Amino acid sequence: MNLILLGPPGAGKGTQAKRLEERHGIAQISTGDMLRAEVKSGSEIGRQAKAIMESGALVPDAIITAMLASRVSQPDCARGFILDGFPRTTPQAEALDVMLRDKGLQLDHVIELKVDDAALVERIAGRFTCAQCGTGYHDSFKPTSRPGVCDSCGGTEFVRRADDKAETVAARLEAYHRQTAPLLPYYKAQGKLSQVDGMASMDEVGRQIEAILQA
Ligand code: ADP
Ligand code: ADP
Ligand code: ZN
Repeated sequence: MNLILLGPPGAGKGTQAKRLEERHGIAQISTGDMLRAEVKSGSEIGRQAKAIMESGALVPDAIITAMLASRVSQPDCARGFILDGFPRTTPQAEALDVMLRDKGLQLDHVIELKVDDAALVERIAGRFTCAQCGTGYHDSFKPTSRPGVCDSCGGTEFVRRADDKAETVAARLEAYHRQTAPLLPYYKAQGKLSQVDGMASMDEVGRQIEAILQA
């Protein structure tokens, strides 16, 4: 099963992709996580991407599509994948169509998480992750059970993303509306698009996604 989760920054794509990965044994592919790993390692791609990401703009299509092409060829994608944060532009979507066709694969569903901009700002402002295992949390909506201790691994260090600050969020939302939202009619025309109410609780969003997959 090959899925795309489409939605603005903070909509809950990563949260739901992790659940799908656990429930269905398919690989989460987050281009944002991949880019952050490149930045951390100081690679050539990381050096090119860092300032762009911190400004809230999109990294050039050529870099992203090359990165994605090698990722989907890895063995953990054999049972399928969930694309989280890709594609984000029409050229990326077109490149994905070619890539899938060449591999004899197809997309099963493109699922849009619909969330109001005001709620996104609140979600992004409160987002943090465990530095050790990467589990995602939110100050108000998903705090750790014990203050300062990761529920999953017991780690006590947490990180907040450099681009999750208020000044950058507006630029990221603008990039979504201008460059990524045109993918909604693109996938609707392919008959692949479904929508879920991303304003609902994490569990309810998860149920709505499962209902689409069962349909
Ligand atoms: P979020 O889901 O919160 O929007 P991501 O972690 O997916 O954030 O992406 C963080 C940043 O990485 C983006 O603002 C952008 O600069 C870059 N990025 C991630 N995926 C892509 C992509 N498919 N195309 C271009 N840039 C990307
Ligand atoms: P994305 O990958 O789309 O940028 P995330 O999955 O990282 O979004 O979610 C952004 C923040 O909002 C995280 O702190 C997460 O814990 C929280 N969150 C995700 N889904 C929901 C939800 N349905 N209701 C409330 N908070 C949520
Ligand atoms: Zn942890």
